[in-house]
Amino acid sequence: MSETLEQLREEFQYAKTNQCVQCGYCLPVCPTYVTMGKETHSPRGRINLIKMVGEGRITDLSILENPLDLCLGCRACETACPTGVEYGAILESARAALNRRRNESETTQMLKRIFLRKVFPSRSAMRMIGHGMWIYQKSGLQKWAHKVGLTDKLPYHLGAFEATLSDPVSPKERTMLPNRVPAKGTRQYTVAFFTGCIMDAMFQRINRLSIQLLAEAGCDVIVVEEQTCCGALHAHAGEVDQSKDLAKRNIAAFEQEPVDFVVNNAGGCGAMLSEYGHLFQNDPEWHDRALKFAAKTKDISQILALCGGIPVNRTTQQEAPGERVTYQPSCHMTNVQKVTKEPLDLLKSIPGIDFQPMTEANMCCGSAGIYNIVNYEESMTILDRKMEHAKDTKASVIVTTNPGCLIQMKLGIEREKLENVRAVHLIEYLAEAAGIL
Ligand code: SF4
Ligand code: SF4
Repeated sequence: MSETLEQLREEFQYAKTNQCVQCGYCLPVCPTYVTMGKETHSPRGRINLIKMVGEGRITDLSILENPLDLCLGCRACETACPTGVEYGAILESARAALNRRRNESETTQMLKRIFLRKVFPSRSAMRMIGHGMWIYQKSGLQKWAHKVGLTDKLPYHLGAFEATLSDPVSPKERTMLPNRVPAKGTRQYTVAFFTGCIMDAMFQRINRLSIQLLAEAGCDVIVVEEQTCCGALHAHAGEVDQSKDLAKRNIAAFEQEPVDFVVNNAGGCGAMLSEYGHLFQNDPEWHDRALKFAAKTKDISQILALCGGIPVNRTTQQEAPGERVTYQPSCHMTNVQKVTKEPLDLLKSIPGIDFQPMTEANMCCGSAGIYNIVNYEESMTILDRKMEHAKDTKASVIVTTNPGCLIQMKLGIEREKLENVRAVHLIEYLAEAAGIL
């Protein structure tokens, strides 16, 4: 075997592909297989392509680009797989290996340099984006942009996403986010809150409500200033070295506080934080620290459930009895963190709601990080299927647990012109029930 083939096997995690027995149980749960109908765009097909690279049967690696680029990374195939194929690890390594050999355009390289290396890891840059959004929405600029049709001319269909922008937090309010919030009543736990990059910039209101709910439930909440982006977007884009740098910064930052848990409210971020151990498997200096950090990482629904749920304001509920609600879970919360029961229990604990589960709820909505921006058409086909199921529930509220899913659901509601339907984060809906919204 040539040295190059050995190297390819290592880089593409060839050994892990041998766990696949080709049974095909993963095919019906794969959104790209279901909507595109091609074996190369199924988990089994992608694994086979990577396997063929390791066996020297594929030498032109560009053959892998389209099938791997169009994978959502939702990891529903991992949950369905009876033999425990580590698809996420295989995909991440293969993408990183492909990226190292790809001739990317200068524009792509520049965008990656700016956004992945400079913007997402910088809390001040993300805050500037938050300020910019507030100015855009509150100054009349947004109305003007709509009036003159400017949003229709934005590249990458960004005009469609612009319509989903949510209630911004003012720059003054943004700087008032406290570093420590004491528990209401008897303290049950001390937790550090993970703010995230996109959550902090675009959904800071939900972060503030999360902190309030945790305090109401009996947690002392600490917001660690030195924290940064979780690195999920980088890992999914095959930029593993950058995700390791960000993971190190987060581990070191949160080690400063002796807390019971590190709590997040974004399924995608939580999955990345809970897998920090995998990033440092070959790094004895960081592996133990990463495992300790990952063990403390919890989704907010787990902590609220542990604290006995949320205090419900019955007056609020009496005003809206029988509201029909459905739930679109985050793929990474379901398939990576394996958190499925707590969000549903919390939701169903709200008196007066009429909960209606969605068909294929565990199938990805097509958001997947920046997938819906870079693969807009494919993402919209997946979303349209999801919205058919959402409409079948006749729910007026779609609850989600991840910022990407929330934006995608809002986009789905816009596309379907569903005037009496709204999409909310679970935290917003619980805060409404607790009377703090
Ligand atoms: S991660 Fe999701 S989209 Fe990718 S192969 Fe698995 S099920 Fe299909
Ligand atoms: S379910 Fe697992 S073993 Fe079966 S084809 Fe899919 S990845 Fe391979």
